[in-house]
Amino acid sequence: MMDFMSRLPLAQSAVDYDVARRGEEGLIEHLLDDAATRVMLVHNGLVAVPKRVGAHAPEALDCAADPAAPRPDAEPPTGAMGLALLAARDLRDAARQPGCLVIYLGVDRACSPEVPYLALDITRAFDTRLQGGAGADSELDAYRPPLFQRLLAAHDWVELRSFAPCASVRDAGLATSAVAVSMWHSNQRFCPACGSPVRPALAGWAQTCANPEDTERLLFPRIEPAIITSIIDEHDRILLQHNTAWRDRFFSVSAGFVEAGESLEHAVRREAMEEVGIPLGEVHYLGSQAWPFPSSIMLGFTARAVSDEIHVDHEEVSDARWFTRVELARTVAAGELELPGRASIARHMIEDWYGARLG
Ligand SMILES: [Zn+2]
Repeated sequence: MMDFMSRLPLAQSAVDYDVARRGEEGLIEHLLDDAATRVMLVHNGLVAVPKRVGAHAPEALDCAADPAAPRPDAEPPTGAMGLALLAARDLRDAARQPGCLVIYLGVDRACSPEVPYLALDITRAFDTRLQGGAGADSELDAYRPPLFQRLLAAHDWVELRSFAPCASVRDAGLATSAVAVSMWHSNQRFCPACGSPVRPALAGWAQTCANPEDTERLLFPRIEPAIITSIIDEHDRILLQHNTAWRDRFFSVSAGFVEAGESLEHAVRREAMEEVGIPLGEVHYLGSQAWPFPSSIMLGFTARAVSDEIHVDHEEVSDARWFTRVELARTVAAGELELPGRASIARHMIEDWYGARLG
């Protein structure tokens, strides 16, 4: 399992979360003044990487599509891409603008001196509803769009699923936390209990309700658990399915959301029965992966099929087949079947069964 997890992007962090400091008064201001602090940038769920000459589109940075990427049987291209990490002092003005969210991601204790990391989320810096709001400084207001336009233009902006498989463990972990927390703030603007506006708390990891009558209500991100299962039969074949919502030729393993009041093991068995009509025997936990698109966590299992007779539901799943290792390698190589992306736990579960990288 350790080997499985050590290769899984979006599932780990080399940085100490330093949770104990999150409630510290003036922490963000203090860290913005600290010469050691490094800041990564987030905008609309994308993370900033150093601009590459002649490569402006995020697609150009997808190592899976890069002809220079290592061969499929080589080691994962970890560290091929890195975050743009800026000095905190250069971003103090930007971080103080209305709509900007600063998240304290933790501290790298392996460095000397230790390096604190912040994420600056500029998604709402362009929100016109915040222009001229109560207490806003008109000079800073006028300054705001050019400042953020410069930040946008100075970097390439990449999607986490393209970035993480090519990044170091540290950068993949920082980016995953930053995107997950940022997406939550973007999607939850009001208190779910009373409908009042909310403001960031605990160094960005929580919100407090601004309603005095609902005061001190602390809100934390709601994470939606989803199970994902590699189903293996008695001949050591893997079951891959095609969902009706997926593009042609795309196949993956069984997955679905955990229902309220349900155990993970029950969800694993229920999804397999609902989607492909397969009763399961032994179920073993493999590992988990944050999947902040926008707020899931994938809980990976492998399970033994009691029967190999497939009955797809034709609603969610239109096709499902058993594959031997030889069949899967041949079908993927022939382009007849497309597997989940390299950042996904699904891909790692399939390759874990296969015993090597595929495609
Ligand atoms: Zn409230």
